[in-house]
Amino acid sequence: MAASKGAPDLYSQFLSSAPGAFIAKQAGLPQPEKLRRYKAGEPALAGPVLIGGKGRLVEPLRNLLSDYPAAAPHDDRLGALVFDATGIGQVTELVQLFEFFQPVIRNLAPSARVVVLGTTPEEAASVDEQITQRALEGFTRSVGKEVKRGATAQLVYVSPNASTGLSGVESTLRFLLSAKSAFVDGQVIRVGAADSVAPASWDRPLEGKVAVVTGAARGIGATIAEVLARDGAKVVCADIPAAGEALSETANKVGGTALALDVTADDAGEKLAEHLLERHGGADIIVHNAGITRDKTLANMDDARWNMVIAVNLLAPQRITDTLLAKGALKNGGRVVDVSSIAGIAGNRGQTNYGTSKAGVIGLVQATAPVLAEKDITINAVAPGFIETAMTAAIPFATREAGRRMSSLLQGGQTVDVAELVAYFASPASNAVTGQVVRVCGQSLIGA
Ligand code: NAD
Repeated sequence: MAASKGAPDLYSQFLSSAPGAFIAKQAGLPQPEKLRRYKAGEPALAGPVLIGGKGRLVEPLRNLLSDYPAAAPHDDRLGALVFDATGIGQVTELVQLFEFFQPVIRNLAPSARVVVLGTTPEEAASVDEQITQRALEGFTRSVGKEVKRGATAQLVYVSPNASTGLSGVESTLRFLLSAKSAFVDGQVIRVGAADSVAPASWDRPLEGKVAVVTGAARGIGATIAEVLARDGAKVVCADIPAAGEALSETANKVGGTALALDVTADDAGEKLAEHLLERHGGADIIVHNAGITRDKTLANMDDARWNMVIAVNLLAPQRITDTLLAKGALKNGGRVVDVSSIAGIAGNRGQTNYGTSKAGVIGLVQATAPVLAEKDITINAVAPGFIETAMTAAIPFATREAGRRMSSLLQGGQTVDVAELVAYFASPASNAVTGQVVRVCGQSLIGA
């Protein structure tokens, strides 16, 4: 996979030299871990899995994870801790979290995974259960901030109506319990009640699918195209006409096609629908990745900057999806993935236009999910934090350095980290996951 073309991370380079590592250790400086990332053929986890808990999910969970090596009682390099907390129905029972995790939390391997499973609080059977299940969020996010060396912690809420086979939860667990979720940390994912059919191969779940990626000429979009193609999809790579050469490069690299398309053009949706219907009989996946920044404080903002950012980042994804649906160019059972940002969650100085557009994307996902569910189409958003790209290389040095380090993982993410999250949402096996906004930010302190 292509390395991100961001500014060099000089601090990490300094730390990876012997004198740098020594000085940093003596001075107590933060030391980012080299994160374990997906490589075909390598084990999903860095070590064995310890499963605990007494809820409705623990037995199906053991079946589901039977192909992961199980931990012996005193293993001290655990690849993952997975805890079924759905049995916790009273506040006094929250101590079960302490009892399971406290004795073993020190025994994690680098890049280990902590996953807690709970019952979706809004669907809980009683007030007590709603309280305890909601409490899991504070526990998991705090664990994420405490574990070291690239380890992460996530919470998965499972609908109480999910069938006991847990097939609808499998794609989420496989993503979280793998190197693909390297930069996803401190997140909460809600999984609905629907069952799923496992793909013929978990390594190529998108075999036979057609995907569109906007803004695919460079940066995050180019890597999304690569990862979707790796997973088996035929990828239509779209970008503005001026991006011509870089766009052809991406398309050639992924064995896909290039489409010159300004997403803000009045006929962008029609043009894309026509292309998809003529060449491919429609698309299964659309990733609205094209995005721009035009930063100025509000006092210094002009209307062109405001309008341009809203048009590319928010209006285009809304209009294009609507048109594809109206023209029958997005198939039933399709996947829509939008790209938000932590600036859309926390806001950011100098980015009133961008923050508005990216928060609007969250609204778009949440409002549209129930409507699209009628066609078995899911819509989700990824919200990247600091990712090493041309966009973040343009940030002034001190701000850029703060952006990298002010997170649990103490580093910026790679474009592939966003792409892996997109691919998880795009999987046919993720049909029970919709209306979700998942950050890929290394548990950045911004907006946390
Ligand atoms: P980038 O600037 O490197 O790439 C964006 C691509 O979108 C470019 O190829 C550009 O030509 C294309 N594009 C712009 N306007 C377009 C239009 N009107 N029609 C079609 N294509 C258009 O940016 P990136 O860092 O790769 O960001 C990709 C997405 O991720 C954006 O939506 C961005 O807001 C979001 N994001 C990035 C970060 C980060 O840290 N890099 C953080 C949060 C969110």
